[in-house]
Amino acid sequence: MDIEVNYRNKKRYNTAKYPRRPTRFWIWMEYILSRIALTGKTYTVDTSAIEGLQAPYIILSNHMHFTDFELAAAGTYPRKVSNVVSFEGHVFRWFLIDWIGSITTRRFTFDLHLIKSIRKVLQRGDILCMYPEARYTPSGTASYIPDSVGKLIKMNKVPVVITKHHGNHLRAPFWDFRHKRKVPLHTVMKPVLTRQQIETMSASQISEVIRREMQYDDYRYQKKKGIRITEPFRAEGLHKLLYQCPHCGTEFEMGSQGAELFCNHCGKRWFWQEDGYLQALDGNTEFSHIPDWFEWEREQVRQQVERGEYCFTDEVDVYGLPRVWRFIHLGQGKLTHNPETGFTVEGIYRGKEYRLNRKPGQSCGLHIEYDYLAVKKRDCVVVSVENDSLFCCPTKPNQVTKLSLATDVIYQQYKMQKTKGAAQ
Ligand SMILES: [Zn+2]
Repeated sequence: MDIEVNYRNKKRYNTAKYPRRPTRFWIWMEYILSRIALTGKTYTVDTSAIEGLQAPYIILSNHMHFTDFELAAAGTYPRKVSNVVSFEGHVFRWFLIDWIGSITTRRFTFDLHLIKSIRKVLQRGDILCMYPEARYTPSGTASYIPDSVGKLIKMNKVPVVITKHHGNHLRAPFWDFRHKRKVPLHTVMKPVLTRQQIETMSASQISEVIRREMQYDDYRYQKKKGIRITEPFRAEGLHKLLYQCPHCGTEFEMGSQGAELFCNHCGKRWFWQEDGYLQALDGNTEFSHIPDWFEWEREQVRQQVERGEYCFTDEVDVYGLPRVWRFIHLGQGKLTHNPETGFTVEGIYRGKEYRLNRKPGQSCGLHIEYDYLAVKKRDCVVVSVENDSLFCCPTKPNQVTKLSLATDVIYQQYKMQKTKGAAQ
């Protein structure tokens, strides 16, 4: 049973409300601000395939960086678009986010009103834009898209457009987003399902099409387009993603400097070439393609979970976000994660205990942040319930990528067991 945090102000931000319908002025304002933000970046937005398409329709987009919003706004202007925006996306800019017609939700929670708000936007004859992976890609490849996306499309019976951004991860990788690499950005908007197709398909068939169409790999894209990333610091931060050494198997002892990645345990080093591929300095390259290394780490986590060896406990620095205006520092707490009980955050704030829990079946993914500015540039994981989000910074170094992989693995196992249970 959850025990809420004893905040001084008990009010919570109400997400159970319909979004504003943006006026022409605010659509124009969003466009102008996006164009300003895109100044100095080399980008193209290909909208040729959706030229004649009449709203309402749903746009599903991959997610790599905040720039995705700016590129989408450039591609859809002057049409009326409501974006689904994560709760913390409002901090410092809630007024603007509200007036441009955004829908607010806490990531990886069950939000019934989100479904109602989406329906409302489409009934108004507008465009709904959402990021179904609900996270920035850490590896330049697609993350899991939940079954609920297929159900949502089936329910609303409007055409679906997929917006695929290329190069945004290469330019500003999530694990080192402050240091930009010189990479041209390319966005393509493409219709993938018509109203008639949706009528004849089941929700799971729709999900299958969406998952297939949303696949991408920014490193293969780099190779294909011959993009060379020459910045001498290009590997810095990569050890946050590639936290396990494939040579000696040690976790959390990887480091990076300049264009090199290395293991502080066994001393092995890899050079990150300008074409985006890795090369081991000893000549034995385990993984040259970064997403392959990342998937190997996922497999290691899966095996740990299956052997019953996976369990995470750490002291964490906790920041609460009950409302959108600011983070509240709650001090030290304890975070645990295991396949049986999921995530639990507990601590004491203003003399009273709090305890929030998310069971394995309640989260199909984990919201993580690297060097998150709002919590003093530290890595954190976010445990969200329906009316609060706790940003937890682990004491142990470099933990958040593994926690994210473990959440994915445990959710998939939960789903498999549930399917098996239903079949028996
Ligand atoms: Zn090693």
